[in-house]
Amino acid sequence: MHPDGERVLLEEEEIRKRVRELGEQIAGDYAGKELLAVGILKGAMIFLADLVRFISVPVFFDFMAVSSYGKSTGPSGAVRILKDLERDIEGCHVLVVEDIVDTGLTLSYLVGNLQSRRPASLKVCTLLDKPARRRVDVVVDYRGFVVPDRFVVGYGLDYNECYRNLPYVMVLRPAVYKGGNLNV
Ligand code: 5GP
Repeated sequence: MHPDGERVLLEEEEIRKRVRELGEQIAGDYAGKELLAVGILKGAMIFLADLVRFISVPVFFDFMAVSSYGKSTGPSGAVRILKDLERDIEGCHVLVVEDIVDTGLTLSYLVGNLQSRRPASLKVCTLLDKPARRRVDVVVDYRGFVVPDRFVVGYGLDYNECYRNLPYVMVLRPAVYKGGNLNV
């Protein structure tokens, strides 16, 4: 494990197995339809890339980037669109793909914003769900894993843009974000 990790929360194999299950479930639910997967940058990038390879119906991609935690580990509150979709989603079956739902503020904003563009349907798929810190009610249609109230990194999730490339998800040692050295 990376030295900045306290413990591995989700092993590479465990993630792969669950991502396959989610992909197959999604493919079944969207049988006969085309799907527009909207990945939320940058955290969901790796999850999205793996997930779509297990979805056997036609999948198109688009991406959005929104401001969330920035360089700290606390919620910023306000959500701002940094990058918007490239195409009009009216009439499309949209699946929002997120890395983690924490307070739910980001997702709740995104769902409201995307819903106003009149997609044929809108569902949400998140790799991780941290329900302990939920502040707003959001519907999550597909979830990979429920995680405890700890700051996690790896498999796309970062701290200060680091650790995204780790193939597993680990709990970050608090000393790292409380002023310790980044061992990158
Ligand atoms: P929410 O708006 O639900 O509070 O936050 C969602 C965003 O916060 C996620 O997309 C992610 O960028 C960030 N976030 C929340 N919890 C964690 C965590 O444990 N680790 C990392 N790396 N990011 C997190």
